[in-house]
Amino acid sequence: MTAMHTVEIGGDAPYAVRIAPGLLDDDATLVAPLRGRHALLVSDANVAPLYADRVEAALRRARPGLGIARFVMPAGEHEKTLARFGECLDALAGLGATRDATVIALGGGVIGDLAGFAAACWMRGIDVVQLPTTLLAMVDSSVGGKTAVDLPSGKNLVGAFHPPRAVIADTTALRTLPDRELRAGLAEVVKYGAIFDAGFLDWLESRVDALLARDDAAIAEAVARSCRYKADVVERDPFEHGDRALLNFGHTFGHAIETEQGYAGATGDGLNHGEAVAVGMVLAARLSARQGLAPAADADRLQALLERFGLPVALPAGLDPHALLARMRLDKKADARGLRFILWDRAGAARVVRDVPDAAVLDALGG
Ligand code: NAD
Ligand code: ZN
Repeated sequence: MTAMHTVEIGGDAPYAVRIAPGLLDDDATLVAPLRGRHALLVSDANVAPLYADRVEAALRRARPGLGIARFVMPAGEHEKTLARFGECLDALAGLGATRDATVIALGGGVIGDLAGFAAACWMRGIDVVQLPTTLLAMVDSSVGGKTAVDLPSGKNLVGAFHPPRAVIADTTALRTLPDRELRAGLAEVVKYGAIFDAGFLDWLESRVDALLARDDAAIAEAVARSCRYKADVVERDPFEHGDRALLNFGHTFGHAIETEQGYAGATGDGLNHGEAVAVGMVLAARLSARQGLAPAADADRLQALLERFGLPVALPAGLDPHALLARMRLDKKADARGLRFILWDRAGAARVVRDVPDAAVLDALGG
């Protein structure tokens, strides 16, 4: 039996992340954060048939009088829209949700972001409980309080900071996750080691097989440690005025790749987010080495670990370095003084570096 990991997240609205196998059937854990008489279970068409009945049954066992409704939407990033957000609010209205109602987000980051934003807005803010079912959602999107939907003009352009009331991660839910989604989440796990702790990279190097096999104990520890790294930086800088930006290691390059490919990851015609971040982290590490900041051996080590997880580590063929550079200039992370990157001094020690010359960036991109 794998013990439950609990990560306490501090700040103005503290909450706990609980991680263990079997939590989606655990009446007491699921019902503990619910305050009122109503709950809206939000999920997508892939996840709901797998897990929604179990969650609903556990809630009904634990609190027989609870009014529960479901809002199940089609899966995918292109559904993270204002229109679906509006439908989710309509479902809250249909439920007769009052200020003490709870939104329960059962799914990956798309569901967590959209349901969290609906909770942030309904009656100016009600509780959301996150039940993440992708590794990415467990280690990243369910923690930290950012919620959002996309607009046709860009990702995550409308949203709010709205911390969850609780996060409950059942590691067994990952057994049904497609391999590619698992690997995407592992890229974000590696990211925490790259930014904050070379010792965590050692730990990951010794557990590649267990993590790829979705071993509950290995996954639970990886999730707990990742949440702790994210929590520490979010507690220091909840609104991303400073250190929280470190979490964007690999993301300036990664976003440029995703945008340049037209977010074709879902169809297999391009990299998904985690894959793009894997490539982006290697590029950031190479750029750090070329700028004389960090040893090239650390970039080699990062690349080797990502490769063992089955992640891409080089720019996909056909992407033009100059086009990527132009994308990065447009990215909101580029400020007036020039391109700003998260680079590292060595594995486990990242920092913000401003005014990185275009020539160095193009060099790292191989252009
Ligand atoms: P996702 O929610 O689209 O899930 C990926 C796919 O896996 C979907 O098709 C989903 O239906 C399916 N799925 C989910 N759980 C499953 C399971 N257990 N078994 C089988 N299939 C399952 O994508 P994601 O990678 O979880 O999240 C990406 C989103 O997260 C993006 O919209 C991104 O902007 C957001 N995000 C937010 C934050 C934040 O801080 N709020 C941080 C990182 C990412
Ligand atoms: Zn990311």
